[in-house]
Amino acid sequence: MAKRSYTQTPMREQDPEIRSHNFEEVALGYTLEEGRLEASRCLQCKNAPCIQNCPVMVDIPGFIKAIEDDDLPKAHEVLSKYTNLPAICGRVCPQEKQCEMVCRLGRSKKFEPVAIGKLERLVADWALEQPLEEKEHVLDKGRVAVVGSGPSGLTAAGDLAKLGYDVTVYEALHAAGGVLTYGIPEFRLPKTIVAKEIDQIKAQGVKIETNVVVGKTITMDEILADYDACYLSVGAGAPNFMGIPGTSLNGVYSSSEYLTRINLMKGYQFPKYDTPVQKSKNVVVIGGGNVAMDAARSARRLGAEHVTVVYRRSLEELPARAEEYHHSVEEGIDYSWLTNPIEYIDNGQGQLKAVKCVKMELGEPDDSGRRRPVVIPGSEFIIEADTAIEAIGQGANRVLLDTFPELALNKWGYIDANEETCATSIPGVYAGGDIVTGAATVILAMGAGKVAAKEIDQYIQSKKA
Ligand code: FAD
Ligand code: SF4
Repeated sequence: MAKRSYTQTPMREQDPEIRSHNFEEVALGYTLEEGRLEASRCLQCKNAPCIQNCPVMVDIPGFIKAIEDDDLPKAHEVLSKYTNLPAICGRVCPQEKQCEMVCRLGRSKKFEPVAIGKLERLVADWALEQPLEEKEHVLDKGRVAVVGSGPSGLTAAGDLAKLGYDVTVYEALHAAGGVLTYGIPEFRLPKTIVAKEIDQIKAQGVKIETNVVVGKTITMDEILADYDACYLSVGAGAPNFMGIPGTSLNGVYSSSEYLTRINLMKGYQFPKYDTPVQKSKNVVVIGGGNVAMDAARSARRLGAEHVTVVYRRSLEELPARAEEYHHSVEEGIDYSWLTNPIEYIDNGQGQLKAVKCVKMELGEPDDSGRRRPVVIPGSEFIIEADTAIEAIGQGANRVLLDTFPELALNKWGYIDANEETCATSIPGVYAGGDIVTGAATVILAMGAGKVAAKEIDQYIQSKKA
């Protein structure tokens, strides 16, 4: 047997100089040969820790073995038992903090962990190339409504259809997918991939109705009367603002608006689509998560000469995925660490011309365990900017919640649902994903969708019995 390589098989990527001017996907995927090479690094552990640390408990050694054996149909069969969205997860899951973090190979100091996410993507992309199987479905176990078509709702819907339920997903926007469609940019997650995985879920018999705002177009009372149970997965899409002076100036955006205009409304193809974002020379992005990286890298692709991410802590505490940070640096994004904006400055005509900032230092740890940033007095300075994008987190969207006051919320305004069962204060109403946890990750939202599907099945069957 060939000697096991210490490092992961690299994935080909678009050159940074070229890709920072286009919206095409950065990472180009493994060939089958590269995939088999990487799969051969797996130790096929008993009681594999990678499975235990995956929120949907994918049989990781199982699908990797099938790749090594050159059997992609088998690898796909294994994956499909656990996930409806493998091409998406393979691209955007924070594997370095989950399955790959605990990989036994990676734990021995000399070796990098197996590239589990990249292998998942290989199998999923192969599956999406195969003709879609149209099957007759018997969906007679009951009727379930899912509100919101992000990863949580899509997962619950797919699993419920597999169990024999007639499921309708209601989505407020004109396209399904939630953040996968309107938030994460094309260069990280092509929308054709999202659409194809959604088509696979529809092929299981799931109906998706877009342009339906539950709470406005139809009410929760109507849903409760028409369905045996429902799953609320409406996400946490309402933008937060810092509320500093000058926020209403032209050129100051929330990351939600900036990214939605670009991704969902195709603003980057202006004038073909008529929802442009402002053309910018100097952009400041505030925040340090994946959303900040996405906004900064999008601004660069739209032609900005200087893009600076300002983050109030240091690189060590940066919450964004390591890969996204590295890609952003390769694309010429600058960072101003330990920096916080305090004012947006007007050019005299209602347009942003600069951002006034202060320097911070790290003090004692706060509730999250991270060291609290503290302002250094007298450290004000100016960054020239015609566009500022705030990516400082999102909160619960109130549209549905305000029309459904019977539903108990927690102190942060999210739905109060049992973590183990997704049950809410109302029998038959389940909730999960970002609307319960606050902004989190795709895989955690999917994990909640899986739990909810199982619990809804038990609820409906016990009611019938
Ligand atoms: P969402 O994806 O938010 O979907 C909720 C859906 O419900 C939306 O489509 C919304 O329109 C719909 N809705 C809301 N109200 C109603 C209503 N009243 N009626 C009908 N429909 C309604 N996570 C990762 O793991 N990796 C990443 O790389 C990553 N990058 C991200 C980048 C960005 C820019 C953002 C914003 C988030 C990112 N995340 C990432 C987080 C991840 O996308 C979310 O945690 C995940 O999408 C949450 O899924 P969800 O199904 O709970 O909600
Ligand atoms: Fe393979 Fe790593 Fe999982 Fe072990 S822990 S089965 S080496 S991927």
